[in-house]
Amino acid sequence: MTNNTYKYLLSDLKNLKGVGLKTSNLLKKKKINNIFDLLWRLPKSYTDRSKSTEIINLKIGDIQTVTLVPYKYNFPRIRNLPNRVYCKDKTGELDCIFFNSYEGYIKKVLPLNKEVTISGKVSYFKNKYQITNPKYISEDASIIKDKHNKYSLTEGISEKFYNKIIIQILKNIPNFEEWHNQEVLKKFNGISWNNSIIELHKPENIGKYRSNFYKRLAYDEIFASFLVHSEIRKKIKKIKKQRKIFDFKVQNQIFSKLNFKLTNDQKKSLTEINQDLISNQKMFRLLQGDVGSGKTIVALCAALNVIKSGFQVAVMAPTEILAKQHFHLAKKIFDKETNIEILSSKSENKNKKDIINKLAEKKIDIIFSTHAIFQKKIVFKKLGLIIIDEQHKFGVNQRKKLSDKGGDNCDVLLMSATPIPRTLTMTIYGDMDLSIIREKPKSRKDVKTYTKLESKIDEILKFVKKEIDNGNQIFWVCPLIDESNKLDHVSAIKKFEFLNKKFPNQVALLHGKTEVYEKEKILNKFLNKEYNILVSTTIIEVGIDFPNANVIVIENANKFGLSQLHQLRGRVGRGLKQSTCILMFKSSLTENAKKRLNILKRSTDGFKISEDDLKLRGFGDILGFKQSGIKIFRLADPLQNNDLFELAEKEIKKIEKNNEDISKYKVLMKLYDKADVINDIV
Ligand code: ADP
Ligand code: MG
Repeated sequence: MTNNTYKYLLSDLKNLKGVGLKTSNLLKKKKINNIFDLLWRLPKSYTDRSKSTEIINLKIGDIQTVTLVPYKYNFPRIRNLPNRVYCKDKTGELDCIFFNSYEGYIKKVLPLNKEVTISGKVSYFKNKYQITNPKYISEDASIIKDKHNKYSLTEGISEKFYNKIIIQILKNIPNFEEWHNQEVLKKFNGISWNNSIIELHKPENIGKYRSNFYKRLAYDEIFASFLVHSEIRKKIKKIKKQRKIFDFKVQNQIFSKLNFKLTNDQKKSLTEINQDLISNQKMFRLLQGDVGSGKTIVALCAALNVIKSGFQVAVMAPTEILAKQHFHLAKKIFDKETNIEILSSKSENKNKKDIINKLAEKKIDIIFSTHAIFQKKIVFKKLGLIIIDEQHKFGVNQRKKLSDKGGDNCDVLLMSATPIPRTLTMTIYGDMDLSIIREKPKSRKDVKTYTKLESKIDEILKFVKKEIDNGNQIFWVCPLIDESNKLDHVSAIKKFEFLNKKFPNQVALLHGKTEVYEKEKILNKFLNKEYNILVSTTIIEVGIDFPNANVIVIENANKFGLSQLHQLRGRVGRGLKQSTCILMFKSSLTENAKKRLNILKRSTDGFKISEDDLKLRGFGDILGFKQSGIKIFRLADPLQNNDLFELAEKEIKKIEKNNEDISKYKVLMKLYDKADVINDIV
């Protein structure tokens, strides 16, 4: 075997016989870019055409295969009348009917007085059997007499064609040298990659998720992804950086300005981060913690240590309003000597230039911004830490670029408020070290969660009024009407009009069509209590602290996943007041819906909820990841294949510990590395 046989699988679809530009473009629209991608289009079911039947025994209405001899054509010259070929075998007669087919084609596939095999749905008309528009016709019976896979079809590509190209690929599939060790291989009964692929496409194997071939292929995916992560980690760890100093005094100075004590998890995370900072290896760490778990303060403590070590810090938030909120917090808790700035798209040009100059001269110690901070023209004199808030929409290759961008001395801390099960964290963030804040601040009261039928909206309005009278504010969330986002604002606008009549001049509206600038203005006004109710779609910002809002009403709550409801619920309950979440429903709840809500009512632990959500809804719907397009695996399922994830983790640890040569995994990595991050590694 040559080392490059894998290249066939990664080559363009046009390398397949029968596939031209048109077909390859159709497939590319479905994100099938090369031959390898096609391997994961699995048959949904199959049609058995393997047995042939004599005409006398045909069953009307069934798809059947019959071998016969055409003996006469009838090509009427009248429009709308079909072409007809009279055929027979020794037991009877059958007509093949063709709509929209040319004479030339018909004569070619059904030449007179020659035996052919055809397959199609049999009907009976005027005392005669018929097959209309038979798709399977051949003089070679063996081609037809088989089981034909049914695929979920791409428009413009027929099933017959799919079958043909898949058969072609399977015939040419390279026989790779085994990359797994014997011990691992034993778990799959020794089946090779190439045989697994062939088994995977056999019609009779559809849906055999527990079989060795399926599990082996799932494991290959998981293992490859972990291995790529491991290589990135190794590469980042090799970078030697200038150590930072960690000073308890700096930390205590911040703590003295807070009116609360850090939770144990906050302290633990901070210790882990500080250890990274003082080491000579570059930090590449994810700080994962549920909404409201207090990640910001941890990040700012780390930032001040970096500043006191003589470096600059860049903090990147997803929105300007969030950047501003972090900026104000820093102003409050950092000492006067620290130069703190904010760069916003609204900063005036002169001001912007000034900030850019100051960054280059190190006259600014810490800058808060949105992703605008990563423009090329912005250079730091001595950047020592990048902090990125609420970033769960970055893929692995974007993260790697980010880590490269800051330069060798620059540590990287990402924060994510999406609690996800461990298998998913390993999958998505496996290239990073991990600090987790699970514990909520003790002072925090759990949000009371209720369900209400929509018909009882009057009760909700009464409650809302009472809360407003007590000086509180309300979020009112309307669901998306359709997935495509086109109409997401309609229900919100209607509800705004409705509520504005009941609470004149107290209601603000926010939806996907609101301009960014306008949006920030509205949010600011809500923060400043100029409105009491904020009607919105699900776009209300992740991460912003609205200490005064303590009620969230969510309409059509059954439209949301549990994790998403939990995230929305996390918008309230950040202050000291008792908070309430009201989930509205159109009609009585189904058993499943009740089960899901009970999970939500019982727990405020985002990690627990997302694990239960995963069990109920299946992976793929976990908040944020579906929308963000980080489709992780083709076969592997973090829930069903939990054991394989653990096995892969164990194997990777072994490889890292023994510093094993990974060149034997080269083909595996080349095939599976969708993010294209290993090109410069292997
Ligand atoms: P998130 O992890 O969602 O980013 P934040 O950092 O915004 O959470 O913190 C949410 C709120 O909790 C803030 O108002 C913050 O001041 C407060 N907070 C953070 N840590 C604690 C703590 N240990 N005890 C009490 N309140 C805290
Ligand atoms: Mg936050």
